[in-house]
Amino acid sequence: MCFGAGHSSQHYGREQHFPVRQTGGFGARGCGRPMGGGLGGAGYGRGGMGRNRALSIRSNKGGSSSTSPVTRKGFSFSSLRGSIQPELSRRLYRLIKSTNTLISAHESAGKERVAIATQLSEWGEQTGDEAVSDVSDKVGVVLSEIGEQEDSYAHALDDARARLKAIRNTERSVQPSRDHKDKIADEIQRLKLREPQSTRIVTLEHELVRAEAENLVAEAQLSNITRKNLKEAYDAEFAAVIERAEKQILLAKHGRRLLALIDEEPVTPGDRRRPYTHGAQARQILNDAEEDLKNWVLQLDEPAVPSGGAYEDTIPSEGESAVTAHSTMASEAAGSSPRASGDRDRRTETTGQEAYPSTESTDIYDVVCVGGGPAGLSLLTALRANPVTAGLRVALVEAQDLQKLRSWKLPPDRYSNRCSSLTPASANFLNGIGAWEHVDRERVQPYHEMQVWDGVSDARIEFDWAPGSRGGKTIAYMIENLNLTSGLIRRLDELGNTTIFDSARVENITSGEETEELDLREWPIVHLAGGKQLAARLLVGADGANSPVRTFAEIPSRGWDYERHGVVATLELEGEGWDGDNAKVAYQRFLPTGPVAMLPLPGNLSTLVWSTTPSNAALLKSLSAKDFIALVNAAFRLSPVDLEFMHTTPSGQQEELTWRLQHTPVNSHAVPQTVVGVQEGTVASFPLKLRHADTYIGERVALVGDAAHTIHPLAGQGLNQGQGDVESLARTIEYAASHGQDVGTRMSLEPYNSERYAANHVLLGVCDKLHKLYSVGGGPLVPLRSLGLNAVNAMRPVKQFLMNQAAGNGVKLF
Ligand SMILES: Cc1cc2nc3c(=O)[nH]c(=O)nc-3n(C[C@H](O)[C@H](O)[C@H](O)COP(=O)(O)OP(=O)(O)OC[C@H]3O[C@@H](n4cnc5c(N)ncnc54)[C@H](O)[C@@H]3O)c2cc1C
Repeated sequence: MCFGAGHSSQHYGREQHFPVRQTGGFGARGCGRPMGGGLGGAGYGRGGMGRNRALSIRSNKGGSSSTSPVTRKGFSFSSLRGSIQPELSRRLYRLIKSTNTLISAHESAGKERVAIATQLSEWGEQTGDEAVSDVSDKVGVVLSEIGEQEDSYAHALDDARARLKAIRNTERSVQPSRDHKDKIADEIQRLKLREPQSTRIVTLEHELVRAEAENLVAEAQLSNITRKNLKEAYDAEFAAVIERAEKQILLAKHGRRLLALIDEEPVTPGDRRRPYTHGAQARQILNDAEEDLKNWVLQLDEPAVPSGGAYEDTIPSEGESAVTAHSTMASEAAGSSPRASGDRDRRTETTGQEAYPSTESTDIYDVVCVGGGPAGLSLLTALRANPVTAGLRVALVEAQDLQKLRSWKLPPDRYSNRCSSLTPASANFLNGIGAWEHVDRERVQPYHEMQVWDGVSDARIEFDWAPGSRGGKTIAYMIENLNLTSGLIRRLDELGNTTIFDSARVENITSGEETEELDLREWPIVHLAGGKQLAARLLVGADGANSPVRTFAEIPSRGWDYERHGVVATLELEGEGWDGDNAKVAYQRFLPTGPVAMLPLPGNLSTLVWSTTPSNAALLKSLSAKDFIALVNAAFRLSPVDLEFMHTTPSGQQEELTWRLQHTPVNSHAVPQTVVGVQEGTVASFPLKLRHADTYIGERVALVGDAAHTIHPLAGQGLNQGQGDVESLARTIEYAASHGQDVGTRMSLEPYNSERYAANHVLLGVCDKLHKLYSVGGGPLVPLRSLGLNAVNAMRPVKQFLMNQAAGNGVKLF
């Protein structure tokens, strides 16, 4: 048994339960804080509030509060100017420090009590008076428990202090937006005095309006955080005061019962004292005390809300509504004007800004995204393009040189070999965040029909829109990945306010620490090569299949390798397609080794994605251009047996194809036009695998794109899934920011996880099953699956459903 429910169990020495002597086991439950200070003359318990009570302890308590700038209601541009904020921040810092001293004082007091309790018990034992000995020991137990209450109280104060620190952290992070605004205002004043005709004045005035708006959002957020945390901090403190007081009163009452067991009747010299017979009673008193502590519950009445509504004054006044409507939407740390910093890796800020607030070695951001592929760039663009999240301080870390991406350009007749089929849903999303117009659309090819067939049985499914709808419905858009990412980075540059570390590899990710200024213990810290450290309220892993962020978050990723490689190449066809440039078709044939797909690019070009065995892939990459072309043409025309044979020779495929085609009837319009060329240097291969992370979120971590899942490319869905993730995560962040939530907590991120995990899981499963179903060259599955394909082809509603899956919402963007 131990004394005091909810406390750590301790053994109190000589008697079974409670004696305090000889134990050395009474140390206060330290929490690692340095001890120091003490109650000193702080006046605790002195005088009290009853006498000489003042209605305010402020030094200017006589003055009207309305004269104080910090008590002004609501926000106005002018109220936010001036230099009161840094002073305010310093005051809060001092308050937090003083609270720390107070905590140490209570810990100290608790320890002293425990030490005194032990001394009392040991002294009593030495007296040789049985009553004094027993009662002093048991009173020591009670005193010691009273000391423990001080320690628990100190812990509660520490929790309350953490809430004050949250206000201060937010306060600090708002400062850059204040400085930025003031700087512009000063510059305008300066110009008006010295160069009143300067055209820069108008530009600066526009900038000032924007900076003021951003600052208003940040200030409103700060106000919300301040109120919430202030309430929580002191609510916790008052609850702890009540608990400590009530438990100490309870203990004190039992202590007095113990004292009553000492018989005070004077003895005359020579008389013997009556023997002490209250040992059992004394033990019972301690049992009662223990029981009472165990049964003690905190009872708090809900404080009455003042009439008129507690939150009345947060309603924006007219004229402020547009901005204050967003007041809870932006980050707590919505400073949008970073301050310059000297040593950096390869770092660019997408507008001429100064760097963000930082501790000595760490820059602090709301969102740090590792990975500047399609997923990472889309996410940051989405956040920056949305006025609600535009105030978040965001950083991108990318191992590649993004300058090359910015200036990416190929001649009109040359195409990159990494292309993706982008669903209209993805294209629409990209359009919504303003990236689509930065994509080189001359190089994007929509297609309106898909031909998919079984290479063994020849069963076929045609995906096209109902008659009459052709031209109005796009199944998907073929786009080079680099065209997409280059459009995204240009849009991100245009939006500005993103700190970009490119050519910067993530070396390590650790958890932060608590310093005098900030408590970053729950925050991931991203360490870049060169020593730069970034603290992230939310760390997003858009860092591909081998995600270091996922590793840091210890999120397992499960799946298997397909033992297949995806061979890609840019092909030149004999023409622009059977129906010309306006009705392009995507072709995919399921072979026993894996599907081979030819997807249209502008003009007479197509991109190849051929999933095949690693040895076949190696052969394809080693062939001369003419034999490679022959094998690709054969893949869409010859039987799997013929094709298999053509993989057994290191050369001569062209001659083999010419000979075999003479004996193979082919409906030429059912297959792609003949390939006549392959662009130099475009044949490459990628190992294919299925992976799915157990979850997409952790505390202050979210995964998107290939970091969360990798899928077989047979349905061309990997990049689209990533776009779906990004859209969902951006929406989740927006919601959290607009409701004053911390965007990094697991609770805030949960809607993203639940929305995307299940959807991706289904798609991963379907593509995996399709791969397995069609990776069989013979046996009972072949007629069954062809039955499946023909059945699907015959059932227009099912077909429509499948097409809608592939195409998203089918909205046309061209
Ligand atoms: C053959 C093939 C064909 C495909 N076809 C299609 C298709 O038609 N349609 C489709 O939707 N999808 C397709 N996909 C899938 C698609 O290409 C991927 O899903 C998509 O590119 C993933 O994008 P991402 O941004 O999540 O990851 P990635 O593109 O892998 O980007 C990750 C980024 O993180 C960076 N990074 C990684 N580690 C670090 C580090 N330590 N420090 C700093 N930066 C780091 C990398 O440099 C990279 O830029 C295909 C895939 C293959 C293999």
